[in-house]
Amino acid sequence: MPRQGAPLGLVNVLLVEDSPEDAELMCDQMVEAGLEASFRRVDSDADLRAALQESPPDIVLSDLSMPGFSGYEALRIVQEMVPGTPFIFVSGTMGEETAVEALHQGANDYIIKHQPARLPSAVARAIREGRVERERRQVENELMRAQRLESLALLAAGLSHDLRNILQPLLIVPELIKSRSDDPQMARLADVITECGRRGHEMAESMLSFVRGSNRPAEKIEIRRLFQALEMLLKSNMPTNVRLEIELSDESLAVEANYTELQQALLNLALNAIQAMPDGGRLLLAASQAEGVDGSRVLCIRIADEGVGMDPATLSRLFSPFFTTKPGGTGLGLVSCKRIIESCSGSIHVDSRPGEGTRFDLVLPMHGKGKGKEAEPAPSVPLGKGQSLLVVDSEATRLSLLGNALSSQGYELHLAVDGAQALRYVQDGHMPDLLIVDSGIPLMSASQLLEEMVASGYRGPAVVLEDAAAPLNGARFPRETKVHVLRKPLEMQRAFQMVAEALARG
Ligand code: ADP
Ligand code: MG
Repeated sequence: MPRQGAPLGLVNVLLVEDSPEDAELMCDQMVEAGLEASFRRVDSDADLRAALQESPPDIVLSDLSMPGFSGYEALRIVQEMVPGTPFIFVSGTMGEETAVEALHQGANDYIIKHQPARLPSAVARAIREGRVERERRQVENELMRAQRLESLALLAAGLSHDLRNILQPLLIVPELIKSRSDDPQMARLADVITECGRRGHEMAESMLSFVRGSNRPAEKIEIRRLFQALEMLLKSNMPTNVRLEIELSDESLAVEANYTELQQALLNLALNAIQAMPDGGRLLLAASQAEGVDGSRVLCIRIADEGVGMDPATLSRLFSPFFTTKPGGTGLGLVSCKRIIESCSGSIHVDSRPGEGTRFDLVLPMHGKGKGKEAEPAPSVPLGKGQSLLVVDSEATRLSLLGNALSSQGYELHLAVDGAQALRYVQDGHMPDLLIVDSGIPLMSASQLLEEMVASGYRGPAVVLEDAAAPLNGARFPRETKVHVLRKPLEMQRAFQMVAEALARG
């Protein structure tokens, strides 16, 4: 194998080739060049699909035309079943036009069989590029997921705060009305209002407790690695007139925090900086060690731009939710940064002048959260792999929160407001992998719904949301399903954990 670049390790090569002799020749060339590989040859649609399913290859090398099968078909199947897998055409008959068409269809390269000198290096390059691309996509997916959860949590927290304020009079006024009137009907009406107010409050509470539990586990983060990941993510958003500069006072700098969250905070700040420099300039990303006010070691991360800067009015509202000066802005970026930095006992400092630029300094304790504010390490919950969940809950806010949160974990969600709607979904021929049902759904009870679903062929597990005031001890559930009980008020991490467990254990 060409010796430049990091070693590839053992690679899995899939050959789509009808001639065993040609295939062997190619294998020989690669092995001779030093590639450590296992090879497998297929020459039909069915065999290719089976091979891809069995073990996804690191690269596919395909002939262009074979009896009953074509290289283009093979490319299409690979793109459909294992998108992102490097694909190279190796053909005896390739003209320039065919080559252009091959690349156009999405192949990484093409090589002519009778001049195979290029094969090993092309294979190595395609595999390396494929790996970098896959890594980039993983980071991006993880980031998008984290951002969705984050904005959901912010929204729920804000909404719950406002709701509680708005509902306050509903808890006070009815008592006043009752004390000023002897009319029994008025007293009953007042009770109705009190009850609505109480329920509203409970909903706001449960929404808050749902998102509060979203503390993520801390880990040791190497700043060098964090900056590299940021650079990769920013590259695609960076206008050519913006120059990224990275300064690390010490290659071994590290800090304890949640990787995804810290990365997201820095990304928000860096994107703001880029957006503040429509005419270009330097974006500085720097980290150094310093001494905190109490003499302890702190890490200082600086994000500085040479952009439009901010006037005092903007500066004073910077961290207010929904404050934005951008047409398409959300005004949530800095709110989320502040929450993240403060959750690891850090602080944010801003220095900005109109027309000159802006500097954000994040100061983080080097060793964990300190001050006895140690968060309980949340168990890491496995992500979903597209399993389908049917959630049945008549409380619209909880239904939508739970649905959103679970879908950001990688599940396919179907929501229903009552048993009848859920049953219709199943009777229409959909079979979810897991049923999540609130114990308080109206008309049809959770156990009745489960019974009806079992009668329609459902054999998956169920998670029942239990009201602390109405324990489920007495409820009878069909024997065909395993029932897990989740206590309300719900908390996001606990819900994720239970869903993962229920799916794993059945
Ligand atoms: P958004 O980016 O969606 O507007 P943010 O919370 O990230 O929301 O930022 C809020 C506001 O703060 C921005 O609209 C902008 O006015 C100001 N701001 C943030 N960072 C910078 C910066 N680096 N330079 C100038 N203004 C900034
Ligand atoms: Mg922003």
